[in-house]
Amino acid sequence: MSKLRVRFAPSPTGYLHIGGARTALFNYLLARKEGGSFILRIEDTDVARSTQESVDAILQAMEWLGMQCDEGPVFQSARFDLYRQKVRQLLDQGLAYRCYCTAEELEAKREQALQEGRKPKYDGTCRALQGTFSERPFVVRFRAPGSGATTFEDRIKGPITFQNEELDDLIIQRSDGTPTYNFVVVVDDAEMAISLVVRGDDHINNTPRQILLYQALGYPVPDFAHVPMILGADKSRLSKRHGATSVMAYRDMGYLPEALVNYLVRLGWSCGDQEIFSMQELIEKFSLEAVGKSASVFNPEKLLWLNAHYIKHGDSQRLGELLTGHLVQKGIEVGDGPAPAAVVDALKERAKTLLEMAEQAACYYRSEVVFDPDAAAKFLVPALGSAFETLLRRMEGEGDWQESTLERAFEEVLHQTGLKFGKLAQPVRVALTGGSAGPGICQIMVLLGKERTLARLRQAIGMLA
Ligand code: GLU
Repeated sequence: MSKLRVRFAPSPTGYLHIGGARTALFNYLLARKEGGSFILRIEDTDVARSTQESVDAILQAMEWLGMQCDEGPVFQSARFDLYRQKVRQLLDQGLAYRCYCTAEELEAKREQALQEGRKPKYDGTCRALQGTFSERPFVVRFRAPGSGATTFEDRIKGPITFQNEELDDLIIQRSDGTPTYNFVVVVDDAEMAISLVVRGDDHINNTPRQILLYQALGYPVPDFAHVPMILGADKSRLSKRHGATSVMAYRDMGYLPEALVNYLVRLGWSCGDQEIFSMQELIEKFSLEAVGKSASVFNPEKLLWLNAHYIKHGDSQRLGELLTGHLVQKGIEVGDGPAPAAVVDALKERAKTLLEMAEQAACYYRSEVVFDPDAAAKFLVPALGSAFETLLRRMEGEGDWQESTLERAFEEVLHQTGLKFGKLAQPVRVALTGGSAGPGICQIMVLLGKERTLARLRQAIGMLA
């Protein structure tokens, strides 16, 4: 058997959508699993809508998700000569023809068909024309068979049949000389020897038209697998109304790529009741046979749950670097503050996203404590003045600034003041971080370091008076 060759073929007219990312992932996993090739093809024949910015955004998102291609990116805009040659081939063989009907004529015919209750379809006016009219603009149409049926075995959906009479004489080249999607996709998939086309099921209606083109061009027909759509909670097609749909927006919201990969692949594919998969495990276990036939609903809570899982189990050093990026985004300098990896260790159990973690971490880096007014009013009360003084003195004298030592010192202060742990710990937490939630009190002191801890205790004492 020849090697599997699959491709991802985005149109660069916007960012990488999470639906597209899932299609790309399915292709990528199959290629890796079978030792095949994963090809990236940028479908930029629509010059007016394609932008370099989108190309860059797509490449960046693919890289972020960890999908490296084996060939490409191949740009369709660099292949116009090939497409022109293939249009000429079909014209020469009589399998395509020039159509001179004007847009107005076609519109009038369309309206008439609709009025008469017929399905609008090109009526074949120019099919039998002899000769060419060089001065008149024309499109090139494929001479579709008009009868019989086109059948294919979809690797996800099963056998699918279309009646050829339903299929129009497709335009393969526009009047400006540019080729159309259905034509170039066939030429490229064939010329790049793609053996399996995995794409969204919004393309399923294109497949029989494309199969007819493969046959006309004398190419072998690849296998097809059409992946069901992703829907929002209201069962309509996932769109911005349901939340972020751009892959990179998830990075900016503090998601980890492994969480998004894990989530997207599970959206439509399952493997027993296993939920957590590394990329390597996905490569081993993914198969089209286990992809469901119907659409899946995007569930942001589950994605968040997976993200929390990967944060909890992630490498602190790496997460620390990512956290730093989010802090800088918030205008916070890491500078001489605690090592980000140590902050990650303190917060990884309680933050579901890196953005949330950056919010919780900000207090360890800011020079000023930003107090939550409710927490300050509730906990920083004058009655605690002498307990805070005792704590300050004890901590001033502490030479070994480590969590276990500080815990002992804190116990001593509790003993001296006769306060229960929570009665002192919570106000101290507010004094040190500005808020009443956070890691253990001695962990906070270690993160802040001695100098900042003492300064913040003194500041609180000033507020208590
Ligand atoms: N460029 C097409 C799209 O972005 C994909 C075509 C295909 O996969 O065949 O929808």
